[in-house]
This record gives sequence, C-alpha cells and structure tokens, in this order.
Amino acid sequence: MAELKLTLRTCIVCRKKIEQKELLRLKCEDKKLVLYNNYGRSFYICKDCISLLQSDINQKAYKKIEKSLFKECKNKDKYVEQLKEMLTDVR
Ligand SMILES: [Zn+2]
Repeated sequence: MAELKLTLRTCIVCRKKIEQKELLRLKCEDKKLVLYNNYGRSFYICKDCISLLQSDINQKAYKKIEKSLFKECKNKDKYVEQLKEMLTDVR
C-alpha cells in the first residue's frame, strides 16, 4: 500500500506545520499583499491564524500576525488591513 504523502508547510504566524490545502498562500508584491500567482517568493498563513484575525477583539493575535507579515514583506505597511480586505473578497 502506498503511503499517503502530505505536503506540509509552515504557517509564518504560529510556526505550525500544516497540510498545504489548509493554508492560505500569499506573497508580497510591490509592498502589496496578494494571493500567490505562481511567481516569486511566497509564504503561508493557516486558517486558525486567519480566524483569529477575523475576530477583531484579539489584539494580541493581530500584533503577532502583523509582525510576521512585516518580517516576510521586509518592510512595514498596512498588511493586516490588506489581508483582511483580501479575505472579505474571497468570501
Ligand atoms: Zn498559523
């Protein structure tokens, strides 16, 4: 019997290794956060971290996600806001 191989990726926020399909793949392009378009460097955020972000009361999670995005994008901008906007578009 063939072993089922899962593609695991690390969430940039919580650092958990998660199955690729459970993650949102993003990239930073010209200081804008966009969905990955098969070009360039990308990173992943898991659904758990995203749901934390969608509950506005969680300031601690917000800061943590913001910090991770700053690190990935290598500069500081309104990435969390961009991510939130992106999520409302997806829905
Ligand atoms: Zn996560």
